[in-house]
Amino acid sequence: MVHRVIILGGGFGGVLAAKRLLKSAPRDTTIRLISETDTFTFSPRLTEVVSQSVRRDIVIKPLQAIFGGRVAFVKGKADKINFEDREVVVGDRAYIYDTLLIATGAKPNFFGIESVKKHCTPFKTFDDAEKLRRQLLHNFSDGQKTADPKKRKSLLSVAVVGAGPTGVELILNIKNLVDDIVERAPELKDEVRLVLLNSADTILPFIDERQRRDAEDRLEQQGIEVFCNKRVTKADEESLYMQDNTKIFAAAKIWAAGVQPVAIPTYPTMELIHGRLPVDKSLQVRGLKGVFAVGDCAIYDNEGEQLPPTAMVAFQMGEHVAKNIANRINKIPITPFEYDHKGYFLLLGHNNASAIVKNYHLKGYPAARMRDVVYRFRFKQMT
Ligand SMILES: Cc1cc2nc3c(=O)[nH]c(=O)nc-3n(C[C@H](O)[C@H](O)[C@H](O)COP(=O)(O)OP(=O)(O)OC[C@H]3O[C@@H](n4cnc5c(N)ncnc54)[C@H](O)[C@@H]3O)c2cc1C
Repeated sequence: MVHRVIILGGGFGGVLAAKRLLKSAPRDTTIRLISETDTFTFSPRLTEVVSQSVRRDIVIKPLQAIFGGRVAFVKGKADKINFEDREVVVGDRAYIYDTLLIATGAKPNFFGIESVKKHCTPFKTFDDAEKLRRQLLHNFSDGQKTADPKKRKSLLSVAVVGAGPTGVELILNIKNLVDDIVERAPELKDEVRLVLLNSADTILPFIDERQRRDAEDRLEQQGIEVFCNKRVTKADEESLYMQDNTKIFAAAKIWAAGVQPVAIPTYPTMELIHGRLPVDKSLQVRGLKGVFAVGDCAIYDNEGEQLPPTAMVAFQMGEHVAKNIANRINKIPITPFEYDHKGYFLLLGHNNASAIVKNYHLKGYPAARMRDVVYRFRFKQMT
């Protein structure tokens, strides 16, 4: 009898699971991938798109090109999941599953501040990265031409909100873009202002101490203004407003201050933890046989410690869940997932990075080279 697997989400978890299932699932299994976007995006390289220091074809790939006809692809947003009837609703169509994998990731979190949502640029997708590059080139070109000092100051200032890995990598890549612009227009050198805002009292609060120090040194060396303990409460076209009544004047305001899991309405309603689907050791959604969840939308308790929302976690979960789905179809017991933390790369601008690999610390050019090699390899594995 045909076994119908539906995978929701064409990101790290969903794509890898589909790839592995194509190899391991019995022949009479059908795999349907439903995703809002029709491309796979290697998000850890998105900040490099802004400085154009990476080729497009190692960041993004159409899902159809990855799978050909071997996976039935539906471009669309899953609006609802009915666990009782085992169906996923996409617009006016319903798709029936025997096994379901939810891997819908996360979306930007504006913490309900409407003015911030309206005036800040999100940074999550390939489109966001390309739009930001265009916006910055446009602002700098207009700033160069305008004589109005207030307007000029605003157009030549960039503020990134959020000093997690994305915010830090982003502002340093923007600095690379600015360096290219200033080379052609040296008169702008002293007018450009790059600001990184952070609500916590330190940058990169959840990252290895050695990488944090590398980042702090690099930000200082590159002339980036870093402000900690600054919680953004409001934004308008010209400025960002802080809880302590200070404001930052900048036409380009980028929001890298957090993401929230994508939560699809379900029947019956699922109890979420911090918006994420709780999964057991085998990555099965608690209380639901045959429904699995991986990546940023899932919460997995690793001996009392929650796993971070990273590509490495989603990748390893995707790999493991494919084995468990194949086992389920073959009526073999499913096995517990174990996360193996291999390290973390932090890009610190062009040809500069900080790396922790199996607890070894590497920085500068060698770390950037290693990151590039590993990321190219991972992209190939994914696509
Ligand atoms: C700018 C940026 C930089 C990052 N840098 C790093 C890094 O350096 N290192 C690292 O480890 N991690 C990094 N991450 C985090 C990493 O990208 C995520 O943890 C990882 O992508 C999570 O994988 P996932 O499969 O859960 O979700 P995603 O890869 O986000 O994929 C989710 C998929 O689900 C689809 N989807 C969403 N909602 C629906 C719906 N309702 N119906 C159908 N489809 C839907 C989306 O279109 C998408 O295709 C970064 C993230 C960003 C945004």
